[in-house]
Amino acid sequence: MKQHMTRMPRGSHCKFSFVRRAAAWTPSLHQQATTTTHHVRSVHESRKSQQPTRSRWLSTAQAETSAPSFTARLGSELAQMESEGTYKRERVITSPMQPAVSVQGSDAPVLNFCANNYLGLSNHPRLVAAAKETLDSHGLGLSSVRFICGTQDIHKQLEAAISSFSHTEDTILYPSCFDANAGLFEVILGPEDAVLSDSNNHASIIDGIRLCKAKRVRYAHCDMAELESALRASASARTRLIATDGVFSMDGDVAPLHRIVELARRYDAQVFVDDCHATGFFGPTGRGTPEHFNLMHEVDIVNSTLGKALGGATGGYTTGRKEVISLLRQRARPYLFSNSIAPAVVGASLEVFRMLLEGSLPVRQLQDKAKAFRASLTQAGFTVTGAENHPIVPVMLGDARLATEFADELLLMGIYVIGFSYPVVPKGQARIRTQLSAAHSDEDIARAVDAFVKVGKKMGVV
Ligand code: PLP
Repeated sequence: MKQHMTRMPRGSHCKFSFVRRAAAWTPSLHQQATTTTHHVRSVHESRKSQQPTRSRWLSTAQAETSAPSFTARLGSELAQMESEGTYKRERVITSPMQPAVSVQGSDAPVLNFCANNYLGLSNHPRLVAAAKETLDSHGLGLSSVRFICGTQDIHKQLEAAISSFSHTEDTILYPSCFDANAGLFEVILGPEDAVLSDSNNHASIIDGIRLCKAKRVRYAHCDMAELESALRASASARTRLIATDGVFSMDGDVAPLHRIVELARRYDAQVFVDDCHATGFFGPTGRGTPEHFNLMHEVDIVNSTLGKALGGATGGYTTGRKEVISLLRQRARPYLFSNSIAPAVVGASLEVFRMLLEGSLPVRQLQDKAKAFRASLTQAGFTVTGAENHPIVPVMLGDARLATEFADELLLMGIYVIGFSYPVVPKGQARIRTQLSAAHSDEDIARAVDAFVKVGKKMGVV
């Protein structure tokens, strides 16, 4: 695949002073919080002593004092995160998203192994051109939700393209897949129903389920015996919906969809799959987890994103039976009360589906690269989870601070990855989640493996 990117010169050594520099000039959150807490406490206490307790919430003076104590509480929570090594900092990228990115504060580009840019489309010339053309033909935005005056011909075309690609009856677009998950459950399930949800499901599925009135049952991650017990126990429910990620984002493992579908048939349940980490690149032709298991017509509802493999911009959708989609158009709150996807993104996404339907995207190559990368890290002695040919390759380190420091060391060697820790993953299971892109060259991958091994040895991990 032709790559549109800036490459790191072979053998170049990057000097990443910014990690340490940031630590030098940013005042410690702990210090800030301690100072603020001290200040706030003295002000608060002196005011409190002058006022009767009952009028505290009513007086202006007390309203003033409640604000600093509120910020002090937040400050101490932040300080605690920092001391536990779970405080997250953003790194600022100054180039487009691609395998080699420029990062603010660094002297040379770094190889990026932490984006969801699975197919290397985030800065693909065909998509950028399609976005520019659509900007000219359809303008910047709709200034409206879909059902008022926010639906253009291209929004309808994109919904049709997604249905055609997914072999489904209809599709509804949302501003994001988070919204698709937030909107789905409360529309299709009521108090008479039950939803059975994998314990490792994405936060947006969990939040969507929280919004609905159905009985909620959580089954242990991929545990089919527990799922079956839950199906038996919920026999009286009007509708039972099994909800699972197709591929789990933090572990890169695949839901046992063949067994889920089999249980759903036996117990007359519906199946919902969030396929954000599979659509476009997993399965023989990139049609995701249902295709991986040869179950394209057996999954009732699929939600996915346009913000990862499919161009990496923004947008999400639900695809499935026409009754489901029609009801969502009537009632889904993120559809009814949030702005339409920007036309330029819709134009670029249409181009992605053209490419997928042409079969011109490097789906197979990505799977082979993932397999090779995973095998090399395992051979070097790292504990790596996930499905063999899936491009999410998590390197397990356990300790949160170790994961952060490991990632910092890798950055000094020109490899950009992120340490994940609680609350994104369970306590004690901190890791570096690497993600392959079809646009990574074999040389990029070899450099990453080499850096992992060097840092792993230095830090006593391998
Ligand atoms: N579902 C899963 C499994 C995800 O990983 C994500 C993104 O992180 C989402 C949903 C949300 O997707 P979006 O970025 O389109 O809101």
